[in-house]
Amino acid sequence: FTDGDVILRTEGLVRKFGEFTATDHVDLAVERGECRSIIGPNGAGKTTLFNLITGALSVTDGTIYFDGEEVTDLSPPERVRRGMGRSFQISNVFGGLTVRENVRLAAQSVSRDEYSLVESLFKPTDSYDGMNEETERILTRIGLENVAEEEADALAYGNRRRLEIGVVLATDPDIVLFDEPTAGMSVEETQETIDLIEEVLVDQTLLLIEHDIELVMELSDRITVLHRGQILAEGTPEDIAGNQAVQDAYLGG
Ligand code: ADP
Repeated sequence: FTDGDVILRTEGLVRKFGEFTATDHVDLAVERGECRSIIGPNGAGKTTLFNLITGALSVTDGTIYFDGEEVTDLSPPERVRRGMGRSFQISNVFGGLTVRENVRLAAQSVSRDEYSLVESLFKPTDSYDGMNEETERILTRIGLENVAEEEADALAYGNRRRLEIGVVLATDPDIVLFDEPTAGMSVEETQETIDLIEEVLVDQTLLLIEHDIELVMELSDRITVLHRGQILAEGTPEDIAGNQAVQDAYLGG
């Protein structure tokens, strides 16, 4: 990979909580098209790093670049508009709206035309050709075209997950950020979610924060291991599986 392929980069990223350093000089480079996972034992600093990247937390020191531009001080919505899409944990689906409305609303939220979000729901649909095409394309991609008129609240579990991904895709992201996509799920739901990510998000740049090593082995091109706020190891799933320091960190804390 040349440097031109890096879409997300952090340089010397530091986050302190009082005297405690939760993120300790993290240099991360995510390349276009890869699925990168950030793993590490509880307390390693995964969520903190994720929140720094999305803008939910401000940095103590260091710089974040996205798509060649500095985004360190941009608000979370501005980062979404720049192409940093987020899914799960932050619930982004409106239960009382239909599947189609949810996707269209998300697409509308990042479009630059003059209609407001609320207006967009009530305008005659044929005045939104571009938006409607995009909406239908996404409904097909996530396999929900047959339930497009159902309310989100009425969806079965797996379809709800599909819609959550659809809402992220509607923001036309250059990277999709996942914070523990399978937290709290059963074994079956976890496998369904992995399959769904592989099916729907193929070719998409992904950054996945995950506690469960087993889960990321299947999905990741490369894995970054955090320990005590620092990068302990980085490599392919095979590299990481055979890394003694990583095993020690998980066992020893
Ligand atoms: P992980 O997601 O890997 O479990 P976190 O990023 O949640 O780790 O936490 C890393 C460390 O930072 C933990 O020791 C945690 O107690 C501490 N921490 C996280 N958020 C805060 C906060 N808001 N205030 C104080 N300490 C925090």
